Amino acid sequence: MNTPNTVTVRVPAKVNLQLAVGPARDDGYHDLVNVFHAVSLFDEVTVTAAGPHATPDAPQLSAEAQTGPRAGVPLDGTNLASRAARLAAGACDRPCPGRIHLRKNIPVAGGMAGGSADAAAVLVACNTLWNAGLSEGELGSLAAELGSDVAFPLLGGTAVGTGRGEQLTPLDSPGRYHWVFALSETGLSTGAVFGEYDRLRPDAPAPRRDPELTRALAAADAAALGAALSNDLQRAALSLRPDLEGVLRAGRAAGASGALVSGSGPTCAFLAGDEGTARALAAELERSGACQHTVVAHGHVAGATVVG
Ligand code: ATP
Repeated sequence: MNTPNTVTVRVPAKVNLQLAVGPARDDGYHDLVNVFHAVSLFDEVTVTAAGPHATPDAPQLSAEAQTGPRAGVPLDGTNLASRAARLAAGACDRPCPGRIHLRKNIPVAGGMAGGSADAAAVLVACNTLWNAGLSEGELGSLAAELGSDVAFPLLGGTAVGTGRGEQLTPLDSPGRYHWVFALSETGLSTGAVFGEYDRLRPDAPAPRRDPELTRALAAADAAALGAALSNDLQRAALSLRPDLEGVLRAGRAAGASGALVSGSGPTCAFLAGDEGTARALAAELERSGACQHTVVAHGHVAGATVVG
């Protein structure tokens, strides 16, 4: 059978609608209730097969940024996309892909799981490139080996993650929601934010799913969803980046029905009642100087998809 030489996969960013974080476990991880929502801010990942005689032990990486700086994307074997390629090659008993090119729209170290999205895209691309026939479950198991946030972008939509966040259950969410993301010039380290969380909340309770959020999603009620958005990591992110308080305040004042730090930050996410309000809100955030760069997006959208 003919197999392609190059496969391109489009993969979405996520915002957390609820992120409830338990105390640090003995293994260093935290138990989470993590409601993921895939939004229309996409990276495009192109994977090229190794040449017929080549047996590279790691793909050659390149990256370009469509929005914001590409700085911070490692181009060596530590990149999650490269790790995904090596894991897939081992699982499928194939030579590692020759090249991976990342077209990044998802902010780097922005709390929107861009690296995890790229890793998920590589798993899907390799599966297609080699016609390997890995099932959704097999792809999900490989994703969970790479990190807690890698399985969700395979699935997309809206889903709740438990355990470390990697045990996913899709949620009933018929609505379409309009978002504004306020990007930051510099990233925040996820590890540093969890460390600050442990310092601030040594007594954190076990994480619980918020029934108001589940109801708002099932009813496609944007106002109720805005009121129910929550992120336990927000206080820790604001402690490390107090300037984000002003961004959140500006977004609320400009008409957002909900505002929160996305994941471990520093991207701030604003829910708007409709697309027009989202565009006006983005313009006002930039005009007022609260933030230099915004992106308007909607959710939810499908997970990693082969586009070429
Ligand atoms: P998360 O919310 O999943 O913790 P994040 O969205 O805050 O992550 P990423 O963009 O995934 O952040 O990047 C976190 C760090 O991972 C970066 O600072 C970078 O050093 C490293 N990294 C590894 N692979 C990638 C990738 N493909 N794209 C961007 N960063 C990557």
